Amino acid sequence: MSNNIVAVVGRPNVGKSTLYNRLIGERQAIIDDISGVTRDRQYGTSYWNGKTFTVVDTGGFVKHSEDIFEAAIRSQVQIAIEEARVIVFMVDVTTGITDLDEEVASMLRRTEKPVYLAVNKVDNHNRMMEANEFWSLGFENTYFLSSLTGSGSGDLLDAVVEHIEEKEEEPSQLPRFAIVGQPNVGKSSLTNALLGEDRNIVTDIAGTTRDSIHSTYAKFDKEFLLIDTAGIRKKSRVHEDLEFYSVMRAIKAIEEADVCLLMIDAQTGMETQDMSIFRLAQRRNKGIVILVNKWDLLEKETNTARDYEKELRNRIAPFSDVPILFISVADKQRIFQAVETGLEVYENRSRKIKTSTLNEVMLEAIERYPPPSHRGRFVKIKYVTQLPTYYPAFAFFCNNPKHVKDNYRHYLENQLRKKFNFSGVPIGVFFRKK
Ligand code: GDP
Ligand code: GDP
Repeated sequence: MSNNIVAVVGRPNVGKSTLYNRLIGERQAIIDDISGVTRDRQYGTSYWNGKTFTVVDTGGFVKHSEDIFEAAIRSQVQIAIEEARVIVFMVDVTTGITDLDEEVASMLRRTEKPVYLAVNKVDNHNRMMEANEFWSLGFENTYFLSSLTGSGSGDLLDAVVEHIEEKEEEPSQLPRFAIVGQPNVGKSSLTNALLGEDRNIVTDIAGTTRDSIHSTYAKFDKEFLLIDTAGIRKKSRVHEDLEFYSVMRAIKAIEEADVCLLMIDAQTGMETQDMSIFRLAQRRNKGIVILVNKWDLLEKETNTARDYEKELRNRIAPFSDVPILFISVADKQRIFQAVETGLEVYENRSRKIKTSTLNEVMLEAIERYPPPSHRGRFVKIKYVTQLPTYYPAFAFFCNNPKHVKDNYRHYLENQLRKKFNFSGVPIGVFFRKK
């Protein structure tokens, strides 16, 4: 597995978000609307030429205070250089080259990583002429585009995704867990509680990125690899943009994990940032367990846990079939249960269902509630198979795949969840022509 992060850096107002929205596309905007997090989207999944990658829009992280703003950009560029696979450096033809552009350029010229200079707002021929001045920044990979109309952005993407690896996950020998969450939720504390002193750090496992650190957990008959996101940070980094840095680490960890243990703080509940991490893991088809940490700090009455859980499930709907545990790392409450649940989710994600059983159960469910007809056309589902993917995905073969509506897809997904245990696991439901 590798990190497939494309970071878009540059000054405010050059058009980073516009390009980002174009890359992320409508489909995702719809998903995000459901959860109400459309406003500050900062990273998301994009597909181009059959490649899947995560786009990070750095602009979303800059706070709106003028004096810290240049420093913030500088620090984000530095983090992007260290963490991303490809960097798109965006500039604006209408302003020409500014001092800050020069400064960012000189930082980027020093990296070995691929850097693409995207000269934006080149909406017409005249601007194409003006755009030539940007060659002086010295980037071999210079592209002229208009994020607004999309012109030129295809060429840029074609080149960028050359660096992205095909996404077919290699099976790992041990389940890979990532503990993800916002700063201060207790990730390091949990890591330490699990691994303790006898931390067996394994670096450079074949097929993983060089800079990730994996530790093995092997206790009480349970075994897994922990992708360390919390541990590496604290040593050398003091002046950085902590929020942006932790987001980058979370994205990388999610990409490498089979199961994400998403930690949230019991006192604040599921915040927008937590939701973004959750949706990213979901879109990447990763297993998810939600750990509500610092449960010890909450005043509790009889129904506190029940009500809390209910609200949380509403928030993460429609993907609400996810284990939720209330833990306290400080009091060592339910930590082992978190491990067990993570392993169960790993099992669920690896589950293969026999074709005969699958058809028996699902055809019965389809008969009980057949797909509604669409403009007088009937959809007849003939059989179903599980696809040979690394996460559970099912193909329903039918006469009119295009006429199956979303709510029927949800019905089938719910039936699959009801009949087979897929708790914590995103599942794919596809319709194919037969
Ligand atoms: P960011 O701060 O870098 O994320 O910039 P935005 O994406 O928010 O864009 C800033 C402004 O530039 C907005 O008003 C956009 O509509 C505009 N803009 C973005 N891309 C283009 C483009 O290709 N051509 C033109 N003419 N305007 C653009
Ligand atoms: P990280 O930034 O996510 O790695 O968070 P840390 O593990 O560094 O924890 C942040 C702070 O929360 C530390 O002061 C911990 O002692 C505290 N903390 C962690 N877990 C718990 C918990 O279950 N209960 C309480 N009360 N404090 C906790």
